[in-house]
Amino acid sequence: MLKELVKDQREFFASQQTKNVKYRIKYLKLLQKALVKYEDVICEALYKDFKKPTFETLATETQLVLSELNYILNRLELWAKPKRVGFTWANFPSSDWIYSEPYGNTLVISPWNYPILLTLSPLVGALAAGNTVVIKPSELSPNTSAIIAKIIAEVFPEEYVSVVEGGVSTSAALLKERWDYIFFTGSSKVAKIVYKAAAEHLTPVTLELGGKNPCIVDESAAIKVAAKRIVWSKFMNAGQTCVAPDYILVHKKVKDKFVGALKRQIAKFYGDDVQQSSDYARIATDNHYKSLKQKLGGQEILLGGICNDSDRYVAPTLINEPSLDSALMSDEIFGPILPIISYETEANIENTITTYDKSLALYVFSKKRKFQKRIINRYGFGGGVINDAVMQIANKELPFGGVGQAGIGAYHGKHSFDLFSHKKAIIKKPNWLDIPLRYAPYKLPIRLAKQFKRLF
Ligand code: NAD
Repeated sequence: MLKELVKDQREFFASQQTKNVKYRIKYLKLLQKALVKYEDVICEALYKDFKKPTFETLATETQLVLSELNYILNRLELWAKPKRVGFTWANFPSSDWIYSEPYGNTLVISPWNYPILLTLSPLVGALAAGNTVVIKPSELSPNTSAIIAKIIAEVFPEEYVSVVEGGVSTSAALLKERWDYIFFTGSSKVAKIVYKAAAEHLTPVTLELGGKNPCIVDESAAIKVAAKRIVWSKFMNAGQTCVAPDYILVHKKVKDKFVGALKRQIAKFYGDDVQQSSDYARIATDNHYKSLKQKLGGQEILLGGICNDSDRYVAPTLINEPSLDSALMSDEIFGPILPIISYETEANIENTITTYDKSLALYVFSKKRKFQKRIINRYGFGGGVINDAVMQIANKELPFGGVGQAGIGAYHGKHSFDLFSHKKAIIKKPNWLDIPLRYAPYKLPIRLAKQFKRLF
């Protein structure tokens, strides 16, 4: 059946229909309509999956996709046009162009943590560029996966866009097929499997992964605002956010004040009994819940640390000075546990950050411009914010993606269109002039041939 689907999509792409920009626009608009129609149902699905608060589903999933759709729809006709670039004398006279050509049949594999955003946002980019798409949503957010399948089946012909629901074996079966582009969001462990499968067919990939995102708070930081922004970005989605701060590096001088501000802010956001708050999500799967609970073992808890098995609830938790060798600090945390590590010198910061691979994000809270600049320039990471966290995703002009172990490639807005398009170089030449310099038998003196560099 999968083979049939891939064959149908291949034939459909070959029919050239998706090369027509108006055709793409028509379907992007239909998707936009369907998203609006099903927005409440989507919110319910995410609540069923891991009690994601409706506000968070709107703010971090559906509305972001709708805004991406709007942005792309307003610009697509312009982007899709061949772009003229300068000529070189070697080709005189000529007009030189870049054509954006869709890759063809694409596969999008997505995770459970932002199951709408991380499925539909790449989909929109792939469609804008003129590709067909097979989507494999995560089996770990089953209600959302089902609503995605329903919406897609309602909007698109199967040979254009199709959802294949299922778990690891379904994903593995899809990866055996030949694709023209694979867009994967998830863990680095699975990314290696995806990358290997893609290599079999020399298929280009985007890998959107995670990492241990440092969040530095120096002694000049506006502590109250920093605490507010950090608490929101870390505990939204119960910490299951790839760009959330993973750990805090705070200057020793302001540590106590900062920890106090974090505690007060958590109480302000979620009340004294966080489990009763309708604004706080749960851990999405039993396995992930168990692994988070284990990570708390042996740590000094400054706040929280409460877990409830039947509800997969992990309280917003602050950990004091964990050892970098501990289970908590060995890998991306991906949950509502925030380690606080103090530093005195920039060398201390460097020692901690360079213990890990390049991260997806880095945040620095400081009023000192030179310090901000040194941090931004010193470390390799996907993207970041000065004096806030997570908000780099909220500007479509900015490319979103990782580097090193945090991923390959970046998307959002025009970056998505470019990511899903092959850039075809075309030179158009007339016949009325044919300068004979390059033809054999070569008569041009070598002395002059050594000046060819001026022509290219
Ligand atoms: P995951 O890698 O376990 O799963 C992602 C997808 O891969 C799912 O659809 C799953 O069915 C499939 N999959 C799982 N095992 C597979 C296998 N052996 N072979 C083929 N396919 C397989 O990731 P997850 O747990 O769903 O998501 C969490 C991870 O995703 C975290 O590491 C997080 O940092 C990362 N993430 C990154 C971004 C980003 O934009 N960079 C966003 C969200 C999450």
